[in-house]
Amino acid sequence: MNAPRSLTLFNTFGRRAERFEPLHPGEARVYTCGPTVYNHAHIGNLRTFLFEDLLCRALGHLGYRVRQVMNLTDVDDKTIRGALEQGVTLAAYTEPFIASFFADLDRLQVRRAELYPRATEHVPEMIALVERLIEKGAAYASDGSVWFRIASDPEYGRLSGIDPEATRRGERVASDEYEKEDVRDFVLWKGAKEGEPAWDSPWGPGRPGWHIECSAMAMKYLGETFDIHCGGVDNIFPHHENEIAQSEGATGVRFVRYWVHAEHLLVDGEKMSKSLGNQYTLGDLIARGARPRAVRYLMQSVHYRQKLNFTFTSLEAAGAALRRIDDFRFRLEHAAEGGAGGAALAAPTAAFEERFDAALADDLNVSGALGALFEWVRETNGAIDRGALGGGDRERLLAALARADEVFGVFDAARWPESSGGPEEAEIESLVAAREAARQSRDWATADRLRGELAALGVTVEDTPSGPRWKRA
Ligand code: AMP
Ligand code: ZN
Repeated sequence: MNAPRSLTLFNTFGRRAERFEPLHPGEARVYTCGPTVYNHAHIGNLRTFLFEDLLCRALGHLGYRVRQVMNLTDVDDKTIRGALEQGVTLAAYTEPFIASFFADLDRLQVRRAELYPRATEHVPEMIALVERLIEKGAAYASDGSVWFRIASDPEYGRLSGIDPEATRRGERVASDEYEKEDVRDFVLWKGAKEGEPAWDSPWGPGRPGWHIECSAMAMKYLGETFDIHCGGVDNIFPHHENEIAQSEGATGVRFVRYWVHAEHLLVDGEKMSKSLGNQYTLGDLIARGARPRAVRYLMQSVHYRQKLNFTFTSLEAAGAALRRIDDFRFRLEHAAEGGAGGAALAAPTAAFEERFDAALADDLNVSGALGALFEWVRETNGAIDRGALGGGDRERLLAALARADEVFGVFDAARWPESSGGPEEAEIESLVAAREAARQSRDWATADRLRGELAALGVTVEDTPSGPRWKRA
């Protein structure tokens, strides 16, 4: 196998683009903070998960072996509150949201991580980590809970730039946190309150704090030092700052080499919130006629360090971009290979592949990668129109499209049966688009043949001033 291609990533730690150098040659170990399963994921969460999917696919495409781990936060304040309110066990409460999370991943064709460890199944590892911190003087037990001692970590704030001294000592943050030595200290283990789910520990019954969950699971599966840790920007502080403090406090070695964070998704230019009624789930979008394939394309077409403004108009534009790809693929599959072939198409295809990979290697520059793709589509369409497609070209060009699709995962309509009303709808749409393209170029023979193919599928097409409309007979 060829050596992986070198790439740069923007490291939140230090806030600059850095060349990615994995700890283990050729292998990228990636930890991605997973969902808190107290609710259905909203499309903001899904943006972050789709970014992580793109990152892992891009790493694979550039030649790295990828080990991705994504945790499930199935015990925390919110899941416990939900379970208590419904009077069910924690597991009974979270199970439907775990199922819904995986269903969303499938609907968006997110590639599965290697592992999805659950917090509730790693409590012994969390307890062991807390014990190590106590031994080192970086943590202390108080009243059945255990706190991380910020004063033990002179470099606290190294990731987020937050100055812990700015929080006044002795200030009371919440009434149930009175047992802390210092207001800045954060909880590692929470003593159980009456009626709450609890695990036995050296400090009595209780449960892990959220931050320690990720430290323990990340180190268990990826090592005390590993390559990449991702999340949304809201995770930078306090979650990831605290993960570093705990992990490095226990091991004395660097926890993560590259911190990579996705900016937030907005809806109609505003932060999503329950009160604005714009906190959509994928199911909400589908109920409003959105197709997961277009949702995926839209989310993958905006650079991860830019805010993504979700609107239904932008979703339509995503659909239009996909139709161009579908039309291109259709022409590629059906055009006659009567031309000379060879250099006329081989050179632009090789140039496209190089530009595509170079853009991805530049901190996942998706605009550059998609720009290269659409330019190649335009050039190739022109060449097909000129009858330049020669023997072997079809296969070579389809392979180039498939390579690009390894990364974006949206360019093949045939793989998106559920993205439309019926199993063959994507095929119908691409036939309709191809017939329209043939009509535009006054290729009546092809247009008629395609009308015949559509008729065979029980579909009739009507040509209207705003374009073709089709319906099932
Ligand atoms: P949670 O389920 O709250 O633990 O969040 C799961 C992931 O979604 C985390 O990585 C968050 O940083 C991310 N996230 C939360 N809100 C948004 C948002 N509006 N846009 C993008 N990512 C988000
Ligand atoms: Zn986490």
